[in-house]
Amino acid sequence: MSNPTVSRIELWHFGAPLPEPFWPSWIPGYPMTENRCTMIRIVDSDGVEGWSAGPELIRERRGLGDVVGLMLGQDATDIDLAQQRLREVGYFGWKNWWIEPAFWDMAGHRAGQPVWRLLGATEGGEVEAYASFGEVRSGSQRIADAEARYEEGFRTVKIRVHEDEDADIRQVTEVAAAVGDKLRIGVDANQAWRVSAFADAPQWDLDRAKRFADVCADIGIAWLEEPLPMDAYDDQAALNEYSRIPISGAELHTGGEPELRMMIERGCYSIYQPDAIFTGGIDQTRRIIAYCKEKGVTYTPHTWTNGVGFAVNLQLYTLSDRDKPLEFPLEQPSWIPECRDAMITEPFIARDGKVQIPEGPGLGVTVSQEALAQYGEQFFVADA
Ligand SMILES: [Mg+2]
Repeated sequence: MSNPTVSRIELWHFGAPLPEPFWPSWIPGYPMTENRCTMIRIVDSDGVEGWSAGPELIRERRGLGDVVGLMLGQDATDIDLAQQRLREVGYFGWKNWWIEPAFWDMAGHRAGQPVWRLLGATEGGEVEAYASFGEVRSGSQRIADAEARYEEGFRTVKIRVHEDEDADIRQVTEVAAAVGDKLRIGVDANQAWRVSAFADAPQWDLDRAKRFADVCADIGIAWLEEPLPMDAYDDQAALNEYSRIPISGAELHTGGEPELRMMIERGCYSIYQPDAIFTGGIDQTRRIIAYCKEKGVTYTPHTWTNGVGFAVNLQLYTLSDRDKPLEFPLEQPSWIPECRDAMITEPFIARDGKVQIPEGPGLGVTVSQEALAQYGEQFFVADA
């Protein structure tokens, strides 16, 4: 009996409104009013479907159907082939690794198993999460935010710095002094992929990163995330060697497994945070995780895209040693589970700071047809 083939591909723009504008620290001057993504539905010749989603800034993927249509008719069970097609699509433009998890979703539905079991993980249950804030706020506001998350059960939070050096130092020092005795605090500088298209954005160099890492070490910060540009590999390695606290990063490295292996070999970070939506899909990211283990460095994923992206990275997190908490994007009042996960029927929640690993097949989430009808716009559909 031959394998099922890709018989239909559908693409949507999706944009669910946020209750308040969200000001991501990583895009200064840009108020997000919607949670936007491109969604893909792939159906195989047996009628099994798989979904995935990749974040969208505007409508930049309008022409994507012309190239992903090349996957129609191919073996729907062959993930190496899906990887090859996406590699081909990326030669001439941007990477669309976010599509690959749809093939894993199909594989899970075919097998009646969650993806994490297909990946060889044996233990489900619940995992400890950390509250990942997304905006740059004053120390006093952040202290109140951190207290609120502590009351909800979180024991780790991550704050953002993206201003001038004095303001950055003031914020982390105030927050650490107020809540550092009961909460682990990570700090994300969001320097790896600087966006200055909407307002000026700070650009750190190695000296500033060293000064900031020293401050963080002195006040007991748990880790410092992406304090240097994503391709400043030598400087990253120098900082990682210098710093008294772990330096982390690698969330958007679309070079995937080969790029991450190179970074691990060069000692760029102590904690690697690949996000499968960007870092080569589930297959390349699981190899990155295996290489982290081989080299004795820590893995815990970046998850900040949307509910589907969170689900993808949660599946992969089951392969980790679970010694570092999982990122749980949460910024009241704008970036909240109902909006972050608007495209799926059941938002992920953190109960007592813990997130349940789905037992359901595939990615363990169900795309909400209601939300898709309300907030989605189909822009491509083709049959084999
Ligand atoms: Mg980050």
